[in-house]
Amino acid sequence: MSTYVVTGGAGFIGSHVCGRLAELGHRVVNVDSFADNYDYRRKVANVLESLHMPGRVQWMDKERDLAWLSACTASGAYRLVCADIREEAALAVLFAEERPDAVIHLAALPGVRASMAQPALYEDVNVKGTLSLLEAMRRCGIRKWVCASSSSVYGNTERTILSETDCTDMPISVYAASKKSCELLGHTYSHLYGIDGLMLRLFTVYGERQRPDLAIHKFTAMIERGEALPFYGDGASVRDYTYVGDIVDGIVLALDYASRHERFYEIVNLGSHRPVALTELVSTLESVTGRTASLTRLPDQPGDMAGTCADIGKAARLLGYRPSMDFRAGIARFADWYRAGSAQDGAGGI
Ligand code: NAD
Repeated sequence: MSTYVVTGGAGFIGSHVCGRLAELGHRVVNVDSFADNYDYRRKVANVLESLHMPGRVQWMDKERDLAWLSACTASGAYRLVCADIREEAALAVLFAEERPDAVIHLAALPGVRASMAQPALYEDVNVKGTLSLLEAMRRCGIRKWVCASSSSVYGNTERTILSETDCTDMPISVYAASKKSCELLGHTYSHLYGIDGLMLRLFTVYGERQRPDLAIHKFTAMIERGEALPFYGDGASVRDYTYVGDIVDGIVLALDYASRHERFYEIVNLGSHRPVALTELVSTLESVTGRTASLTRLPDQPGDMAGTCADIGKAARLLGYRPSMDFRAGIARFADWYRAGSAQDGAGGI
């Protein structure tokens, strides 16, 4: 059994990672501030779902709800620490107590458009927070980490298939610039202090518990309510949507790689290598929800990339990564989860 600290473990991807690591028999320490990028109650529900703890929550206020959540999830195998990654001293105390085998760093303020509305806050959490985490790791001799980077670092490019060796010097959003900064800090701490790191460039992740601001969640909610969908550009723009279970597989494989190797710094794409056009996304959502979507046509958004498709050859060679979820099947799983949550106002409905 290993001990892993997961930052951002109450979020969409983080809750799936914590759940999988717990199922594999590891001790999981989830460090999350329950940031206000979306309703903290959604994140409370994420934690409970990830630990298979069903039931309704008697909501009070944020402080009391989080104290209740920490107490009711505490076990020899799981610990929830409600803390901010920018608090380096608190992280150092935690690392000294837990001596984790590795850190999985997912905490961030995500989202391209939101980063343009609050650039200083995004920079503070994503860059200063990552630096604070690395400093605490260095002080406590924690030598391995896996960090969530993003396909957004590729910016606008003529290339259709995005590979780790492509230039990423020209990000087109504050969020992308902050993620690129995390990669650079990862390299610096690897070079200076021997902290081994895998920077995983995640390509548009979807599935159960997806963040409410992301297109698939937003569109599903709007279709269910009979509202018109914002349809940017001509619908030909493509995204390499990746099912969250495949991403978790990639993260677990990265941890395995980290446990077997020394002195490495690697950047690795985790995608599905199966680009889906906006028009196909909408028709798939119509098909799984059994409803017809009406559209409001809008121009392309600043900061959005024209298209993404991951070259996943390096992930396959280095880690043995093989994404397997069929797009329609993954969307159907999301829609089932969303409808179940809306029906009982505990999950998708928040
Ligand atoms: P999320 O918002 O659901 O999860 C992030 C978590 O980090 C949240 O629970 C939040 O409360 C926590 N957090 C934020 N600020 C914090 C702070 N200062 N201290 C401690 N915790 C803090 O987002 P997600 O979609 O699950 O994304 C997880 C990671 O994956 C992020 O780093 C994101 O940039 C990256 N990523 C996500 C996608 C995607 O499609 N979802 C794509 C590429 C990269």
